[in-house]
Amino acid sequence: RKLGYRNFPMVPRVVYGRGSFDQLADILLPKRRNSDAPMIFLVDDFFEGKELQGRIPLLFNDQIIFVSADEEPKTDQVDALVAQLRETFDEPPSGIIGIGGGTLLDLAKAVAIMLNNTGKAERYQGWDLVEKPAVYHVGVPTISGTGAEVSRTTVLLGPEKKLGINSDYTVFDQVVLDPELVATVPKDQWFYTGMDCFIHCVESLNGTYLNAFSQSYGDTALTLCKEVFLKDLSEEEAQDKLMMASWHGGMSIAYSQVGIAHALSYGLSYLLGVKHGIGNCLVFQHLEEFYPEGVQMFNQMLKKHQIKLPKGVCANLSKEDFNTMITVALGMEALWENALGRDWKKVIGPKKLRSIYEKI
Ligand code: NAD
Ligand code: ZN
Repeated sequence: RKLGYRNFPMVPRVVYGRGSFDQLADILLPKRRNSDAPMIFLVDDFFEGKELQGRIPLLFNDQIIFVSADEEPKTDQVDALVAQLRETFDEPPSGIIGIGGGTLLDLAKAVAIMLNNTGKAERYQGWDLVEKPAVYHVGVPTISGTGAEVSRTTVLLGPEKKLGINSDYTVFDQVVLDPELVATVPKDQWFYTGMDCFIHCVESLNGTYLNAFSQSYGDTALTLCKEVFLKDLSEEEAQDKLMMASWHGGMSIAYSQVGIAHALSYGLSYLLGVKHGIGNCLVFQHLEEFYPEGVQMFNQMLKKHQIKLPKGVCANLSKEDFNTMITVALGMEALWENALGRDWKKVIGPKKLRSIYEKI
């Protein structure tokens, strides 16, 4: 009997429903330590000047900080935000509230951790390196798919690597799931981030790490994704279901792992700054050999929604560029082991990876 099963935390509180965003004021009230300890709202700058801004429940010296999601979060950016907060306020914040997609959710998690831990964020990239619990932090997703709202990681681009701060303290203390907030997401972005969820399911359900716990969430998320992307649901129903698919997809990988598309996508992102959702799609289309049913379904989804993926992304890369991407991708050992088993190095190597990157 093997012991040492992972004992991981889950989001302890979640509110779900259309318009539930307006409950945020009541949710935050008991968490306010005093009038000098503000709530800090890290908000996707898409919402600057939009209706949602006026609904953010500001009190006392609370602050909204708008952040662009054009680039994925960086360790330096986290350090700068933490320094700014320490300088501006005499007291540590009562809470950090991230409002946006995976980028803003990850930033909120990382800032909440770093406010209570010393040194630079890059020091904590890895597994279970965080020493002290984070400041109270809340996630409010405004686009569905990454599962960042439930996950135990915050993925950051550091000076040396793109890697998550994986820890028990990373998990949000509270999540607000309000499907109304995704109404303004542009179609292409909806598809790319939604496919992140679909790919999480495929990679988890086809992985060697799979157990009944992960499968139960993965099956649910996959069923929801198929409804959202292959059936003709009403707009509201599709929004509701994709938000729950993202949640279940995230839960599914908590106990398993992602796989080949994510490993290769990390390489693209590291070298070229290709964003997570679209990067996964660019890779996944060429993985028929590994995920035949998944890729077939993916192609149906592309067609139904008339999404045209960019071509020639890797066309002008040098040998060194390819090698950089290959090194990053092959470094994700757990992902390969999940996808292909313990002997994964016998199945896949630099040559194979290069041939996939060349098609992108
Ligand atoms: P994102 O946060 O990068 O946002 C994508 C685009 O959508 C941005 O232009 C943003 O402004 C826009 N947007 C978001 N909500 C909107 C709305 N309601 N209306 C209009 N525009 C809106 O997108 P994402 O795909 O959710 O997140 C990607 C990030 O998530 C990456 O940095 C990736 O590393 C991270 N990620 C984290 C985890 C995790 O478990 N922590 C898992 C997967 C991905
Ligand atoms: Zn992902």
